[in-house]
Amino acid sequence: MAEVAVTPGIQLPERVEILGFPIDRVTLDETRRLMRDYLASDGTKLILTADSNAYINAATDDGYRRMFREAALITPDSAGPVWALSRLGRPVPGRVSGVDLVECLCQLSAETGARMYFLGSAPGIAELAAKNLAERFPGMVVAGARDGYFSKDDDTRIAQEIAETKPDVLVVAMGMPRQELFILDTAEAIGAKIGIGVGGSLDVHSGTVKRAPKVIQKIKMEWLWRLLLNPKKIAKVRNLPVFYWRVRRSKPL
Ligand code: UDP
Repeated sequence: MAEVAVTPGIQLPERVEILGFPIDRVTLDETRRLMRDYLASDGTKLILTADSNAYINAATDDGYRRMFREAALITPDSAGPVWALSRLGRPVPGRVSGVDLVECLCQLSAETGARMYFLGSAPGIAELAAKNLAERFPGMVVAGARDGYFSKDDDTRIAQEIAETKPDVLVVAMGMPRQELFILDTAEAIGAKIGIGVGGSLDVHSGTVKRAPKVIQKIKMEWLWRLLLNPKKIAKVRNLPVFYWRVRRSKPL
């Protein structure tokens, strides 16, 4: 299995822990700089955009633990980790979300020619997201796109198809931890410089799911907005009070 490389010389952000699992104290600008470095270095770097749910599930699920262990960079994806970091005495200015990082990578692609592959979501969505993003970021290079509905037994075949398009950045939207484990397991075969799991971000960029209005984002209620639009997310939302309770009980770092 491919080792995800850590390149000497890259300035790393401070890594701390929430509930025993890592998180990097990065801003969007710092993440952008790191991603530029990753594009110019060897090996595949997994970027993990971590939410409260990930920290709760990692306590009991080996797949979640592995992605935390092997990620090159772990960003605070949602309000939960941002709040936890401030509560633990290591604040960050704000979220560094999957939706934002997809935009950031598209901009980098337009600047550097890095080839973007979009994998995940229902049939047609990744292609639509790629088309919309290419319009917003002129010069961005799309290597390919395909849906995320296939069985794990087909991972090797799909990885080969993706490898043929020679992507530098593999954006995977298949839900956590499936997307991160796909990136780790196929890193050697695909050979991208950056692999990033982005959950529902391609749905957002395709225009089929809207982000919460700014005012809802501001009062940190985007999770409630999403829940009302998609009650299947109830399991995730149930983890939120558990997260808050456990962090409140933990000691400052
Ligand atoms: N998805 C997929 N393949 C699957 C299951 C889900 O491509 O086998 C997609 C789904 O269509 C959605 C995304 O994965 O676009 C999951 O989004 P969610 O917001 O649930 O991700 P998470 O918050 O778990 O990272």
